[in-house]
Amino acid sequence: MNIQELEDRFRESKANSRRPPTIHTSNRASEMGHPCDRYLVLLRTKGDHRSPVSPQLQAIFDEGIRHERSAVADLEEIGVWLRGSQRDFPPNTYQITGHVDGILPLAPPWLGVDRGPIVVEIKGLNPHDWNRLEQSGDRVDSLRGHRWMRRWYAQGQVYSFLADGPGTLFMLKNKATGWPLFVWCPLDLDYVQGLLDRAERINRHVADGGLPDYLKDPSECRRCSFFGGVCTPPMEFGGDGYVETAEDVIGTFDRWAELKAKLGKDAVELAVLEVKCKKYVRDVLGEQDGAHFFAGSVVAKTKLVQVKGYEVKPKTSVWVELTSLREAKGEADGIEETA
Ligand code: SF4
Repeated sequence: MNIQELEDRFRESKANSRRPPTIHTSNRASEMGHPCDRYLVLLRTKGDHRSPVSPQLQAIFDEGIRHERSAVADLEEIGVWLRGSQRDFPPNTYQITGHVDGILPLAPPWLGVDRGPIVVEIKGLNPHDWNRLEQSGDRVDSLRGHRWMRRWYAQGQVYSFLADGPGTLFMLKNKATGWPLFVWCPLDLDYVQGLLDRAERINRHVADGGLPDYLKDPSECRRCSFFGGVCTPPMEFGGDGYVETAEDVIGTFDRWAELKAKLGKDAVELAVLEVKCKKYVRDVLGEQDGAHFFAGSVVAKTKLVQVKGYEVKPKTSVWVELTSLREAKGEADGIEETA
């Protein structure tokens, strides 16, 4: 075994520890802040069709669990003793479930509220977003408006509503330094009502088998674990899009993505497949600039570049960039922090 094999083993170990996606039997509080209704309904009806998380994202999840455990010990050191860790909420008409990280049954004097229980949520945060949050003038507003931290905010709001508490205390730990930020988010009943209405909408779709409209937001859809599988929305990507349906062609592109993830650049089969896939994209899309081509787990994008010649006349050449959707998702997922 050499050093490179150690990394391969680590990747394999993370890949093997992933739990297969399953159909959700309830609306999870941690997902209620997701921007797409269709995604929330699909979780309830076709959750097992999601692509599995990348090994990189699994590693982030595992780190998050470690941070949460150490954060509980940190809180105890400063005299804050959590109760009800991973407590479930009783069944409710909204079919919302979740597990709180901890509860303070009575309002502590330092919080300035007159009653408990106080829901406590612990999250690990990358240094970049931690610094931005620390420096923001209004941390509650920043949490609520952030592209993915808003899901934490929504989760906290739902939890404090279900626990009949006055709000949620977030402990946001910088993953690089271990230093915490504490953010108190008071219960916002108007905001919660929006989430409860949403839960009822989802329940109706689940019951009648319908699906809400597509989100059609490339930045969200590209990260979505249903994208390219049971949900491929017709989106404007700044160019035409083409979705391949021929199984054998999809198989070739998927094989390219599989080899790319395993072998990187130095493999003859990968190089041969890459040439074949790019030619296929050129043949299908022709001379289009910024056009997208989807085949299984791969998205290709074209860019027209002028090739200058001295002896031969300049001509238009189609440059094709292939991206494994799983890899692209892994990168995007890597930005998101979970605990
Ligand atoms: S791909 Fe887009 S529209 Fe479809 S479920 Fe995901 S986020 Fe929603």
